[in-house]
Amino acid sequence: MEYKDLASFDKNELQELILQLGEKKFRAAQVYEWIHKKNVDSYDEMSNISAKLKGELEKKYYVNSIKILEKYESKLDGTCKYLMKLHDGNIIESVLMRYNHGNSVCISSQVGCRMGCKFCASTLDGLVRGLEPAEMVGQIYKIQKDCGERISNVVVMGSGEPLDNYDVLIKFIKILTDENGLNISQRNITVSTCGIVPMMRRLADEKLSITLAVSLHSPTDEMRRQIMPIANKYSINEILDACRYYFDVTGRRISFEYSLIKDNNDTKECAIKLCELLKGMNCHVNLIPINPVKERNFKRSERTYVLNFKNMLEKNSINVTIRREMGADINAACGQLRKSYMQEHDA
Ligand code: SAH
Repeated sequence: MEYKDLASFDKNELQELILQLGEKKFRAAQVYEWIHKKNVDSYDEMSNISAKLKGELEKKYYVNSIKILEKYESKLDGTCKYLMKLHDGNIIESVLMRYNHGNSVCISSQVGCRMGCKFCASTLDGLVRGLEPAEMVGQIYKIQKDCGERISNVVVMGSGEPLDNYDVLIKFIKILTDENGLNISQRNITVSTCGIVPMMRRLADEKLSITLAVSLHSPTDEMRRQIMPIANKYSINEILDACRYYFDVTGRRISFEYSLIKDNNDTKECAIKLCELLKGMNCHVNLIPINPVKERNFKRSERTYVLNFKNMLEKNSINVTIRREMGADINAACGQLRKSYMQEHDA
């Protein structure tokens, strides 16, 4: 049997495993708490578990095997970017953002990505593999321990396409929201997708109270196809239909991400078209002035264009915010930190 991380087991699976080892049911609850509530990194710390059981588990399973490799802290706003190392040597990145309403962590869902968005650094070398549930919750556990403060919000907006790692995503949400773990509210979890329509509908049918964020980035299919290959598969109309379905089933307002690129999607015409598309929809638009990736030639929109774009949406009664730039002094767009680390270390 392959060596696996025990943190990937949900409560029922862990119980089954512990029963199979000839132990009592309550031991499973204890082990679960050590891993998911107390976030231990080793069996040694599980003080009320017998050496025999720990020995059995240790033969086949890691505990919270993900490790913090490097940490960069912003002097401006306390934002921390972390590089984390997985048991097989792969590297991912996660970010801690400190807001007035609480601490939020942005996590990765895959090592690399195969969606191919032209402006994104995560996808430059393609997909390596999807993360395991343990590696998704592990990013949050490690950051919570490192900063010593409670994490109340989680956004799955780091590297990777979460709906391309669907079963793991669902299990991750189950573990993260479990009352015997970190007990994070579903309402405080956001999952961002580039718009894989059938999976958006499937997610709706899970009837969770999480927020779905959709990366739109263009008001027409033609423009979208230039920067997002997924647009060759699904049209904006199909995406918006799936969004309406998501809202109907879950009652959760959709959040649209729109990254503003100079001389591309930031004009008045684009803003007007976007208003037409979203008219009457219960949604929120998050404008993201693009983070230029050095391997690509996209430039950030000028401030006046960003403000004009926002004003046009507001005039049309669409909820809109400009994403506040966090940690500008440790600036690294999605996937850039990992990429530069790997280049420096020849990984
Ligand atoms: N795959 C998912 C989630 C990861 S990307 C998705 O596509 O939504 C999270 C968000 O950051 C997406 O909206 C993505 O398009 C955006 N993004 C990626 N690279 C960026 C960059 N260089 N500048 C600004 N936004 C970027």
